[in-house]
Amino acid sequence: MVKITFPDGSKKDFEKRPTGLEIASSISEGLARAALAIEVDGKLTDLDHPIKEDAKIRIITFKDKVGVEIFRHSTAHLMAAAVMELFPYAKPTIGPAVEEGFYYDFDHVPFKPEDIDKIEKKMKELVDKKIPFKKEMISKNEALVLFKDNEFKVEMIKELEEGQISIYRTGDFVDLCRGPHVPDTGKIKAFKITKVAGAYWRADAKNKQLQRVYGISFNDKKDLNDYLKLIEEAEKRDHRKIGKEMDLFMTHELAPGMPFFLPKGMIMLIELIKFVREFSYGEGYKEVRTPHVFNSELWKISGHWEHYQDDMFCMHHAEDNIDLGIKPMNCPAHMLIFKRDVHSYKELPLRIAETTTLYRNEKSGTLAGLTRVRSLSQDDTHIFLAENQILGEIKVLLDKIKAIYKVFNLEMDVIHLSTRPEKFLGKKETWDFAESNLKQALDESGLKYQINEGDGAFYGPKIDVKVKDALGRQWQLATIQLDYQLPQRFELYYDDVDGVRKTPVVIHRAILGSMERFMGIMIEHFAGKFPVWIAPVQVRIITVADRFNVYAEKVKSELAIDGLRVEVDCRNETINKKVREAQLDRIPYILVVGEREETDGTVNIRTRDNVVHGAAKVEDFKKKILKEVKDKVIG
Ligand SMILES: [Zn+2]
Ligand SMILES: [Zn+2]
Repeated sequence: MVKITFPDGSKKDFEKRPTGLEIASSISEGLARAALAIEVDGKLTDLDHPIKEDAKIRIITFKDKVGVEIFRHSTAHLMAAAVMELFPYAKPTIGPAVEEGFYYDFDHVPFKPEDIDKIEKKMKELVDKKIPFKKEMISKNEALVLFKDNEFKVEMIKELEEGQISIYRTGDFVDLCRGPHVPDTGKIKAFKITKVAGAYWRADAKNKQLQRVYGISFNDKKDLNDYLKLIEEAEKRDHRKIGKEMDLFMTHELAPGMPFFLPKGMIMLIELIKFVREFSYGEGYKEVRTPHVFNSELWKISGHWEHYQDDMFCMHHAEDNIDLGIKPMNCPAHMLIFKRDVHSYKELPLRIAETTTLYRNEKSGTLAGLTRVRSLSQDDTHIFLAENQILGEIKVLLDKIKAIYKVFNLEMDVIHLSTRPEKFLGKKETWDFAESNLKQALDESGLKYQINEGDGAFYGPKIDVKVKDALGRQWQLATIQLDYQLPQRFELYYDDVDGVRKTPVVIHRAILGSMERFMGIMIEHFAGKFPVWIAPVQVRIITVADRFNVYAEKVKSELAIDGLRVEVDCRNETINKKVREAQLDRIPYILVVGEREETDGTVNIRTRDNVVHGAAKVEDFKKKILKEVKDKVIG
């Protein structure tokens, strides 16, 4: 008899050694159909594997993250099986599941688009045949013989420890693999090869270049179609593409990862900084500007020199014979500002804010547009406070976060509270106190959150906020981090009400995060159709004929005098063409002026989404758009 314990604690006895599939079937037919693999006492295994003794199990379906991985890795095998039938001389190397689907690397000449069509067709044939994934155990020597024609597999086998090696067969295709896999190819209902790219064996440019074939798969056709539509829309909205079309920013190989803000992008960045000053900081915050480069002694005190040096840009000052580090964070500099004075408890919370650019030595391969950069400026703040002020301050911050994301129409998606890790500094009671404060603040703010047990930094617990953009994609933005360590390292004090010298707690917080990255997110979220208040050009005036140029210029100055950003298009082109171009340039308001408008002192209003609003007095239009700017209306 084998006793099986289910995740909810319920138990079931089986006469004979049951397989995962039999266990799933004993619960429901639906679960048996959805089952992809099984976890037995924490170890993943195939559904046809008999369970020999009492065990705790979990049936894995596509709803589990690991289920998706097994499913997609199985699709990689399926694709390799198809490739091997069509191109017998191709050498398969590795084929893992990755975040955006799966890939398989082949040693082969580049695949042509028609090859890809053929591979997909062949995959479909193999799916229809419902070919089982069969596991076999063989010795290392047998494996070396089996894969003798594939030097890549041979290299991998040689690196394995002595003993039995598992292989998986799918029809004629055989692969070296730990598994587990879905029961048969028939499970893989929906898939698509998404792209082909070159990749070096073991990601080393000294090695042979292979063909990496990427794909995606789902257990439902609709999910695949939704995904493909999302990808198409995301490509249209790619901030690098729109940034180029709208002349917002550029990058250059001579400063990788450090975006250049062009005049129009700079207008947006300035508006964003204004926004940060007013809303992210706001009343009670003191803005400062601190040096970019510091003597390494500062980084030694803060601990960056020991733990973070690889991520910093460092240099040596020959004349003074000292090492210098460019700042990757503002915190240590703000500690020096606090340390300058002896503070009374009456001055707390003391909130120091700074948007100066920071530099981080991110790996070359990870850099992308505005979202993965080496130079960044944050809405960064360090709040020095007494322990009994934590709750109140966190509540204010959470309200602020809610209000700020609303302005950008970003939905708060997931909030994580990360608690004490195994390795932590300070006293357990201090941690408990801080964590209960964070929980209470979240509860009282009415926000739903998940607890990431043990995921806090070694110096304090934290709250992270992820938002959802217009495409439903998740972005990590705000972070609120308690820190008991840095104030101690810097020996900071304040005089408490009882006259005792105490060390303050520090909160590190950012709400938009890096403004570069936030701009990238905003470009994609709005697809370049920014709310009027932040649009680089807010109004374009279009003349019907040359003789109205003077009137157009007059309207322009009337609007510009109140700070609106206005252009005139007086080219000798048709109105239709000029309107269309203004719409392609994503300009919120397009004003057409001609005979009647000049006589009446009006403008004819259209918007970038091709809605004609008709004539309005210049004065009335101005009032309307200024109010939209002031209220930060989303267009
Ligand atoms: Zn495999
Ligand atoms: Zn900080």
